[in-house]
Amino acid sequence: MTSTHKPKILIIYTGGTIGMIENPETHALVPFDFDHLIDNVPKIKMLDYDIENFQFEHPIDSSEMNPTHWAEIARVIEDNYERVDGFVVLHGTDTMAYTASALSFMLANLNKPVIITGSQLPIGEVRTDGEENLITALQIAAATDANGSPVVREVAILFEHYLWRGNRCTKRSADNFNAFKSNNYPELARIGLGLHFNKESLWRSRTQNRPLRVEYNMDTNVMFLDLFPGINRNVVEHALATPGLKGIVLKTFGAGNAPGHDWFIDAVKRTVDKGVVVVNVTQCPNGCVHPQLYAAGVNLAKAGCISGHDITSEAAITKLMYLFGLGLRQEEVKKYMRRPLCGEISVD
Ligand code: ASP
Repeated sequence: MTSTHKPKILIIYTGGTIGMIENPETHALVPFDFDHLIDNVPKIKMLDYDIENFQFEHPIDSSEMNPTHWAEIARVIEDNYERVDGFVVLHGTDTMAYTASALSFMLANLNKPVIITGSQLPIGEVRTDGEENLITALQIAAATDANGSPVVREVAILFEHYLWRGNRCTKRSADNFNAFKSNNYPELARIGLGLHFNKESLWRSRTQNRPLRVEYNMDTNVMFLDLFPGINRNVVEHALATPGLKGIVLKTFGAGNAPGHDWFIDAVKRTVDKGVVVVNVTQCPNGCVHPQLYAAGVNLAKAGCISGHDITSEAAITKLMYLFGLGLRQEEVKKYMRRPLCGEISVD
């Protein structure tokens, strides 16, 4: 039996290098519009898909991205969720991993593909990675299994030869076409002559038959505190005394270690005692926090800092925004930070 169903894909264009053109005066790249982008990929017509698009009123460089934009993307997905088979989000690479992580939390019970891609060179250039990334992202968004269900049912990043889980990704190169990597989780698909999906790695939610529920509130009273040898008391105490602060991603050394000076551990403890959630995330791109391995990690745990295990910084900070956005208090936020909500950490 042959299926006559034409995949219906909605492209959401937010900006980023993929659609940029050079400003003739400054020669700097600036975001341009969607029609320009599509005009440069005539091959799209060779895909027998129904393609619709939505574009930000003002496409942006992704360094401008913030939770209002995430909410806009989520709103478009929610409004069109029942009508279309999948979504492709075109986005700048700089903050793509943050957006992918944020959307993975905001789109509860997601059961359709949300494939985020972009490029390192604008699509209008002779040599560009944009065309291939866009075409492949569309094919992944349209891919179905033998039952006609979508293969990908999560937020994922497609870049060059790999599809990665969105909340496991980090931008690893400002130059290479192979710009993203998930350091603690295998690829969801490898792109070669075909699309080779790694079935065991794909997210399958236990609640996937429930309707999509979008959580729009993200609480931005959060921050990173990135440790370095020599970080001083003045800097740490001022940062931790930020008014309204609710969550901190403490970026630690190696297996989750921090200086053991009394003033430092006391400052962390006082912050936790005030109701702030402090999450220990390693600065190492690969591997995870082992809070009990060294005395330098045990001290932090004793001060009330919780382990982020193998979560990325991008996922940790957006998960804090999401959990505080739900109105949860310190103990509940700690509980959910320790558990995976949508495959962002490798613990049960
Ligand atoms: N600055 C650009 C952006 O993130 C970089 C890119 O798209 O590759 O929007």
